[in-house]
Amino acid sequence: MRVEVDRDLCESNAVCVGVAPEVFSLDESDIAIVTVDEVPPAREAEVREAVQLCPKIALSLHEDARP
Ligand code: SF4
Repeated sequence: MRVEVDRDLCESNAVCVGVAPEVFSLDESDIAIVTVDEVPPAREAEVREAVQLCPKIALSLHEDARP
């Protein structure tokens, strides 16, 4: 599973970082970034929660694995 940030929507409130700090971070512009290529299975529940909690709906899940 992969997760992506829509940088145009993100408002830098770091909700995702608080929920899943091993997957999300803020870059030097305070926009969320994803720090992993594939979400580790042990982090998937946190990532799904972050997607639901993001107030800007800036996070999207992609269930397909990268080739
Ligand atoms: S929760 Fe959403 S709006 Fe907030 S920092 Fe993360 S991606 Fe951006």
